[in-house]
Amino acid sequence: MSVPSFRLDDRVALVTGAGSGIGRRIATGLAEMGADVACLDLPGSDLTGTVQSIKDVGRRGVAVPADVTREDELAEAVDRTERELGPLRLAVNAAGIANAAPAEEMPADQWSRVIDVNLTGVFLSCQAEGRALLRNGGGSIVNIASMSGTIANRGLTQAHYNASKAGVMHLTKSLATEWCDRKVRVNSVSPGYTATPMNRRAEVAERVKGFEADTPLGRMATVDEMVGPVVFLLSDAASFVTGTDLLVDGGFVCW
Ligand code: NAP
Repeated sequence: MSVPSFRLDDRVALVTGAGSGIGRRIATGLAEMGADVACLDLPGSDLTGTVQSIKDVGRRGVAVPADVTREDELAEAVDRTERELGPLRLAVNAAGIANAAPAEEMPADQWSRVIDVNLTGVFLSCQAEGRALLRNGGGSIVNIASMSGTIANRGLTQAHYNASKAGVMHLTKSLATEWCDRKVRVNSVSPGYTATPMNRRAEVAERVKGFEADTPLGRMATVDEMVGPVVFLLSDAASFVTGTDLLVDGGFVCW
């Protein structure tokens, strides 16, 4: 038996949240592993840097702007991906937002917006991508959840965010079981604290030293460190892995 491949050669992928942080690095990482990549972020966001970095490693890249809370925009993004790059096989859903407020004071619309983007947005993304994957005979989806779906972060008042990420993990399991007999695998990756613009928000920036001290590996992750786990789950090396959540947290939840 040959060793299964971690390569993604000539497969077409779509990455949401590809304009910044983890999604941007993953989009380039998939290209480095041989995929052609459609880059989705909010309309008006600058995706030229991500697309250029894909082209720089010799793969095809295209910008497909969309809001992940909009079904029509997601459908058009998937259509455009397939028109320009070919049948979709892989997807990574990294678009997300974060903010904070004490639970007893949080306005309902602040709660709803985070749930809309982080949970409903991942469902609608999976739905649009899943329709294509099912039509194309199979594929693999990775949703970016968070260790905040497993633990409630000490000192951060983000009940909405934590609940949205726990939701993403169980949504992932639910889709994995619905699509398991049609060759579509669905998994999640849960980062710990990672150096991105999300952790330069005022309410978390001054706490970074504490995040690092609370992490057994003693530091935040770099975005580079999210690529390998995602590539593994997308690749044939993970052909018997579906419905799982892979914590990439430097050991945070062990303490
Ligand atoms: P980021 O740098 O802020 O990137 C998130 C991207 O998603 C941004 O480009 C953002 O656009 C985009 N986005 C927001 N709302 C969207 C929408 N409705 N439709 C399409 N795109 C939208 O954050 P990140 O740190 O890379 O986070 C990526 C994912 O990892 C998120 O799901 C986050 O929850 C998760 N995560 C991050 C960490 C961490 O420590 N950084 C830890 C665990 C999990 P705008 O910039 O215009 O809003």
